[in-house]
Amino acid sequence: MSIQSNLNTIKATLPEHVTLVAVSKTKPVSDLMQAYEAGQRIFGENKIQEMTEKWEQMPKDIQWHMIGHVQSNKVKFMAPYVTLIHGVDSLKLLQEINKQALKNNRTIDCLLQIYIAEEESKFGLDENELNELLTSVEFKELKNIRILGLMGMATFTEDQNQIKKEFTHLKSIFNSIKNLKTENCSLNTISMGMSGDYQLAIECGSTMVRIGSSIFGGR
Ligand SMILES: *Cc1c(COP(=O)(O)O)cnc(C)c1O
Repeated sequence: MSIQSNLNTIKATLPEHVTLVAVSKTKPVSDLMQAYEAGQRIFGENKIQEMTEKWEQMPKDIQWHMIGHVQSNKVKFMAPYVTLIHGVDSLKLLQEINKQALKNNRTIDCLLQIYIAEEESKFGLDENELNELLTSVEFKELKNIRILGLMGMATFTEDQNQIKKEFTHLKSIFNSIKNLKTENCSLNTISMGMSGDYQLAIECGSTMVRIGSSIFGGR
């Protein structure tokens, strides 16, 4: 199957309110260009250096999403152009993003990553940490970031009930904060679902899916 037909097949199954992030990490620019030519404009990468190299080489109407874990000292490299940072999991990181956004005279949209899996290796905030962050004085002072919603990754398992439980948990946390009235929040996005579980994620309330291998093939 070609990248174009994979993309079209997936897009045909997505409800209108669900945004597709084409996860292109490790793939060459020529593969991304095939997706671009098929109409895809949102790409997700998990390494800042790789994303920046691709941004330099590719058309400027692409929206670049950082979906990986972000180190504070590298934020400056993507601050001029990144559209959405999915994996924000601390106030300290948000403060650095805010600082770099200000330097670039812009606002950077972010999602807060929530820990929903039963795995040691996944990053993210728990519900208490999320509430603490959102209600802190330091957070309200950040004028050059905007929180659009939450991101989460389910446990890597075949157990559909387990995955469903975790996605439902993320949705319920989102519901508990969605009416928050803070100037730097505009909560309308739940980023959950990858190649193996995006249909289930959509059933559970996802508004943004991050799909890599089903579009570009295995890595
Ligand atoms: C790699 C990656 C994806 C895409 O995974 P696939 O299984 O290839 O669809 C989605 N989200 C994150 C955070 C990733 O790192």
